Amino acid sequence: MGKKYQVVGVTEEDYTEMVESYMGFCPDCGDFTRDTTEPDAENYDCEECGKNNVVGAEQALLLGLIDITESEE
Ligand SMILES: [Zn+2]
Repeated sequence: MGKKYQVVGVTEEDYTEMVESYMGFCPDCGDFTRDTTEPDAENYDCEECGKNNVVGAEQALLLGLIDITESEE
């Protein structure tokens, strides 16, 4: 992954849910597009765009692709 992606903000609740439900984040789509993705996975395929840039939720946070935002009151 050489290119820069816009960081996507997610709430802590959503992040926890994505980790627990094994959702994978696609930086090209800017969204969680893949299920059955281990939280530390990398380079999985995206069913939406066909690219192999999907990473697990924990990995997305580690790589700075997503950022935890304050949840709305
Ligand atoms: Zn995608």
